[in-house]
Amino acid sequence: MTARTLALDDALYSYLLDVSLRETPLLKRLREETQALPMARWQVAPEQGQFLALLVKLTGAKRLLEIGTFTGYSALCMASALPEDGHLLCCDLPGDYNQIARRYWFQAELQERIELRLAPALETLGQLEREGRGESFDLIFIDADKANYPVYLEHALALVRRGGVILFDNTLWSGRVLEQAPDSADTRAIQTLNRRLKTDQRVDLSLLPIGDGLTLCRKR
Ligand code: CA
Repeated sequence: MTARTLALDDALYSYLLDVSLRETPLLKRLREETQALPMARWQVAPEQGQFLALLVKLTGAKRLLEIGTFTGYSALCMASALPEDGHLLCCDLPGDYNQIARRYWFQAELQERIELRLAPALETLGQLEREGRGESFDLIFIDADKANYPVYLEHALALVRRGGVILFDNTLWSGRVLEQAPDSADTRAIQTLNRRLKTDQRVDLSLLPIGDGLTLCRKR
């Protein structure tokens, strides 16, 4: 028995996937195609994608925002969990991987439910605020450039409704969050975000040790 989070070795992790992962053949193909890309590590773990989909259903979220989409795996997971009238707005930079995302969303017949805006996310977020979309999103998933995480937090708080969900991926950063005075701006930004969230009275939170660390916040 243990009163702390269990460390998963390879055998136990395989077991977890074996007894709980329900990845569709389409998602599996997307994951395998993405694995062949040089930036393959940007993709979320499959059990994390499934968790995001479950969270969309649990919260009844209809208006979703994703910051950092890459080949669209997490977007496909979340969009497939949306009701008919749900909508997912994705922010990413232009890149060859956009076409992979769109191809799979089309194959899943979810292309109508997903909008991809190709621009620096900070521009898109500012634009949404100017369009009067403040406090209009039910759930925001953030998995983009880590150096901007503290800035994304402020935008997410402006754009999510009260009681809505904000998620940050990679908040354990392969353990690099333990470094003292790290050289990497990404590592420093994640450390700043984590420390800030601990005492941020605007949110309730839980840091889940799933994937590379997933921080789940609820706006108060
Ligand atoms: Ca990630």
